[in-house]
Amino acid sequence: MSFKPGNAETSRRHQLLVPIAAMSFGMLGLLVLLGTFLIVSFDRTASQREQHMVEQGFQRLLEQYQEIIVPQADWDAAVAKLDHEFDPEFADVNFGSQLFTFYGFTRTFFVNGEGKVIYASVEGKHVDNKAFQPFANVTAQLLVPIRKAETERPPIKPDESGESTVTKPIQANGTVRIGDTVYIVIATLIQPDLGLVMPKGPRAPVAITAMPIDRATLHTFASRYLVDDLELVGAGADVMGKAYFRLLCPSGREIAALAWTPRRPGILLLKKLLLPMLGALILLAFGAWVLVRRSGIIVDELILNEKQAKHLAYHDQLTCVPNRTLLFERLPGMLSAIGRETPMLAILCVDLDRFKEVNDTLGHDAGDLVLKTLADRLQALSQDIPGSFVARLGGDEFVLICPVREHPHARDLADRCLERIVKPIDCDYGQIDVGGSIGVALIEDGTVAPSLVLRHADMALYQAKAEGKGQVTFFEPGMAEAFRTRRTLEDNLRAALPRDDFHMVYQPQVDLAGEVSAVEALLRWKHPDLGDISPSVFIPLAEETGLIMAIGEIVMRKVFEETAHWQNVRIAINISAVQMRTPGFATRVMQLATRAGIDPSRYEIELTETALLGDGPATTENFEILRRLGFSIVLDDFGTGYSSLSLLHRFRVDKIKIDQTFVSGVDESTEVNALVGAIVKLARSFDLGVIAEGVETEEQRRHLTLVGCTEFQGFLTGKPAPAGEIAALFESSAILLRQA
Ligand code: C2E
Ligand code: CA
Ligand code: CA
Repeated sequence: MSFKPGNAETSRRHQLLVPIAAMSFGMLGLLVLLGTFLIVSFDRTASQREQHMVEQGFQRLLEQYQEIIVPQADWDAAVAKLDHEFDPEFADVNFGSQLFTFYGFTRTFFVNGEGKVIYASVEGKHVDNKAFQPFANVTAQLLVPIRKAETERPPIKPDESGESTVTKPIQANGTVRIGDTVYIVIATLIQPDLGLVMPKGPRAPVAITAMPIDRATLHTFASRYLVDDLELVGAGADVMGKAYFRLLCPSGREIAALAWTPRRPGILLLKKLLLPMLGALILLAFGAWVLVRRSGIIVDELILNEKQAKHLAYHDQLTCVPNRTLLFERLPGMLSAIGRETPMLAILCVDLDRFKEVNDTLGHDAGDLVLKTLADRLQALSQDIPGSFVARLGGDEFVLICPVREHPHARDLADRCLERIVKPIDCDYGQIDVGGSIGVALIEDGTVAPSLVLRHADMALYQAKAEGKGQVTFFEPGMAEAFRTRRTLEDNLRAALPRDDFHMVYQPQVDLAGEVSAVEALLRWKHPDLGDISPSVFIPLAEETGLIMAIGEIVMRKVFEETAHWQNVRIAINISAVQMRTPGFATRVMQLATRAGIDPSRYEIELTETALLGDGPATTENFEILRRLGFSIVLDDFGTGYSSLSLLHRFRVDKIKIDQTFVSGVDESTEVNALVGAIVKLARSFDLGVIAEGVETEEQRRHLTLVGCTEFQGFLTGKPAPAGEIAALFESSAILLRQA
């Protein structure tokens, strides 16, 4: 079986594979995401630390610059030379020139108690006070905390030992931008250190020193704190990938910023590990791909297995058409479509008429070929009818379900179906002609139970077969009743077997002289409630149900037992076609005969033409054995069947029994007389005996005698009667007939 994925399979495949693929690649994605998250947070922490370090570093730088000024400003000599009276020379030597030369403060100013500039030095040289102008604003702002601290300073108590400083430095710092240069500005109050010289008034002069933040400063700072690409940029600068430390003027306005490239250890690590990581990632991705592919193959196998198992469960293995299980799964849906998509549904039960014979005579291969051909023909027909469905119910029974518009449409469909199935089938032996029957149930009510629908079609099929096969029969409500009656009868018949509600009667057969030459054993069934039931009713039923085998044994046992001691009279026993067809039947007869101790040559076996016609190997074998045992063979009901000459030729029968339908017509119709005459002549030419049955009138017997008949059976010469009555008749019969 080839596997072509349909829509259902594709969606099943997706259902199974998508989670596996999602899981594999999702894990991979998660790994990448986790890595990215780690790198980003690693970098963020690093840059936060760096930012903090730069801020702290800058603060430290200011403090260092402030510390440089302290020894010059906190000094008794400075109080004397700058506060008591301002000595520009002292200011030059100890501040302007010294602070520039050794420390790089390019500007030094002094502001007096009134806030007025009293000294200015630029790059170590005493200059005009005008140079102070750009620093006036920042100075004013720095002076505020200085003056506040000055007034809050505890009173100065001189240190007589002249060793330790009695004041704490009072300083303030800030940044200012002048042109393109940013200065760090430090204001320092002139105070005594040992307190040997006291400030002159409440407000001492303040030294204002300024140092530009130049390349060298930045370089030193950058190398101390390991900051990359440190530079001074304008206020408000904000470039992606850069970090900033904003420099504010004392009033809080940004005047410039320190900018640098933040270190990204995460990215750095990533760059270093990129290749091995990429390799690992590719490996993992490959692994995931292999996993998904392998899962795909496994899933495909699973789906295929499932599909095959489903196919096996739902299809007949020999013909590949859907089986009973699938039929019962589909039928409800088709029934519910009645009234919506289709006015009615035709259920066609198809059965071959002679399938068993094909199997018995040509073998099972031929039987299989017949079934396959039938299935193919039905499917070909079904393909032409949208919405139709074919299934094998078992044996040689198939069902075809088709939506139809109206009754004639269904009739036409069934006829076409029959036409197709009865076509001969070519095989190795030549052509097989099986024939078929169809039972049709037309369903207009979608609420009927699926099993009932099929039963109706089956009843119609049964009727078709009972009516002579090879035809189409539609279900009618009466059939259901007949079926029920039949079913009750069957149950009763089964129950009658163990109870032995059967007995035999014997009907005399007389010769030309009126002597009883033979009797025909006839079976009687007396039901405890229903009374006598005719063998014409229950024998066909027994044949259909197989009960005939058990019944046949009862008949033979009783007949052999009751007639074993009869003298000079032959006994005829009716044997059904079903018995003849059963392998081993004749052997069983032999056993019963031996057990009863009877002489087979006194017994006649009555067979109908149909019993010989289905001449499978078993029939022929049984026939031969019975002959060999010494039983005579009578062909019963002659003239009603095929009246085949070849049959007489092939099977060596001893006698033919002219059927009562001819006998009842002999005295009235010359045509019948001629026909019966012909039959007798024919029998004579084959050297066969002839008996006429159903002889009811003397007239009939006279005519039959005229055309050459020598034996008679019928109500005229004796009704069937139990064994005891018959035995008594043997002696008196001749006398009785002579009187008549
Ligand atoms: P059959 O073998 O053709 O038996 C002859 C039937 O014709 C018998 O009916 C018999 O009672 C009836 N008959 C005899 N003389 C006359 C007559 O003058 N006029 C009319 N109208 N009928 C007459 P029965 O006994 O009801 O049997 C019916 C059929 O049942 C038999 O037909 C035979 O086919 C079958 N049958 C009866 N007993 C057995 C049996 O033991 N085994 C088998 N396999 N079939 C049996
Ligand atoms: Ca008979
Ligand atoms: Ca007969």
